[in-house]
Amino acid sequence: MNILLQNATIVTLNDLDAILPRASLAIADDRIVAVGEIPRDFVADEVIDLAGKIVTPGLYNAHTHAAMVFARGYAEDMPLDRWFNEGIWKLESALTPEMVHWGVRLAMIEMIRGGVIGFADHYFYMDEVAQAVIESGMRANLAWAVFGHQEGELGVTIPGTVAFVKKYNGAADGRLRALFGPHSPYLCSDQFLARTAAVAVREGIGIHIHAAETAGQVQASLAEYDMTPIELLHDRGLFETHTIVAHAIHVNSVDIAILAQSDVNVVQCPSTHLRYAMGVTPVPQMLAEGVNVALGTDGAGSSAALNLWREMRLAVVTQRQALDDPEVMGGLTPLRMAARNGARALNFRDSGRLTPGYQADLIVIDADQAHYQPIHSVPAALIWNTGPADVRDVMVAGRWLMRNRQLLTLDEKAILAGFREALSDMMSRPLGQFKKYDVAE
Ligand SMILES: [Zn+2]
Repeated sequence: MNILLQNATIVTLNDLDAILPRASLAIADDRIVAVGEIPRDFVADEVIDLAGKIVTPGLYNAHTHAAMVFARGYAEDMPLDRWFNEGIWKLESALTPEMVHWGVRLAMIEMIRGGVIGFADHYFYMDEVAQAVIESGMRANLAWAVFGHQEGELGVTIPGTVAFVKKYNGAADGRLRALFGPHSPYLCSDQFLARTAAVAVREGIGIHIHAAETAGQVQASLAEYDMTPIELLHDRGLFETHTIVAHAIHVNSVDIAILAQSDVNVVQCPSTHLRYAMGVTPVPQMLAEGVNVALGTDGAGSSAALNLWREMRLAVVTQRQALDDPEVMGGLTPLRMAARNGARALNFRDSGRLTPGYQADLIVIDADQAHYQPIHSVPAALIWNTGPADVRDVMVAGRWLMRNRQLLTLDEKAILAGFREALSDMMSRPLGQFKKYDVAE
């Protein structure tokens, strides 16, 4: 199927950051074949006029626990330790595979509607998530969250994870990647981390982990190992494969050098960082030193929404306020983090920019609305004026997942009904204590 998009403002995120006015983009099957100048011999099966619309690469939610939409608003206005111990890790003691089945589908509705084409998920019952991704047409990285305790673990063993990875890595025409998901250096033993890294490197499997979220975690790591959490992960071998580190808020210059040299992908989740007063990551320094920094929403239990547009804005204003510098993170920087850096973090190397040879992974934004006028600056219109409701169409690998706000792969009515039933079943179960967070602040 050949598709020609015409008359659009095209934000390429290519190496020149080119923005093309009233431009065309040609798609053949799953790939972009031309942007700007269209070859005379390109014959389109469908021509779509996009006057007044902005086309950008699709967004990546590079760290989330998608099914956790069930915890939206459940544990508000409390510090991180109480959020874990009194909120989330009580609720998750009642978690069911059905809750994940419906939760991830509900999350995908919200993400597709907001222009998110792929997500790096870190959770439980990941077979359910894999099936949902296959059905939805999205891209995803899937990691079973594991703690490495010997007994009573919800989840999978290391051999079980290898089997999960082998089953799903590269599945769904390459839209799926499967990784190891050790939770964090503050919950997993360092022996378990080292074992995970050894198997990951030997089997060529990536790793998705949380680290350095609070000053207390860094203090505890220094007290136990004489190493920061980043130094510990590096020392135990976790950076010798494709690795995503969520948060990495409390890092020093040595940590940043390690992250850059090891080609680690760092994911910032500003809503969560700000709502729980976790601190400010030195993002401009990381970017300047060559760290690939992407954006994520984290789970809706901490961020409330799976809204990358909000994360982009918060990523900017956090830095400007903290650094007393209104010039940092300007222009397309936040969009580049959400799209191009996100694609790299999720290891989709031919996604995240609109350039010939890349995957046809794009979104159409309806800028022909009052709250956009006038558009003196396309980057400013995208970063400061766009919300999920402005995303009109979403395409992944040349296939429309949403057109004119109509979802084409997910049945919203059935998903809402299934979600409500699974939630009421879960909420009627007795709550225990799933885990305990005991890092002193
Ligand atoms: Zn997280």
